[in-house]
Amino acid sequence: MSRKDTILRAAQRTAKEAREAASRKSKRRENSGILPHRHCSICWKPITLESMPPVCSNEECEDSWKKKDKSRKRLTIMMYFFPAFAILLLIMNILQQS
Ligand SMILES: [Zn+2]
Repeated sequence: MSRKDTILRAAQRTAKEAREAASRKSKRRENSGILPHRHCSICWKPITLESMPPVCSNEECEDSWKKKDKSRKRLTIMMYFFPAFAILLLIMNILQQS
């Protein structure tokens, strides 16, 4: 057997093994029996997909989520406000120059 044949055969075997491993992996995922779910954004306990806010029934989690949500909303406002303010300043600058 030539060296080329040996390499070709080895490559084919590797590809086959990879394919088999991939199919095994997907099969395991199907059989795991875990339903689609999400996690509490504070303590990562599994909760139902529909729960809104995305926290568990723990009061502490709810409180800290509310705090987080408030600061997130504030950040979103800032992200819109600062560019708008910068543009406004730019426009005023242009108007003053003309
Ligand atoms: Zn929680």
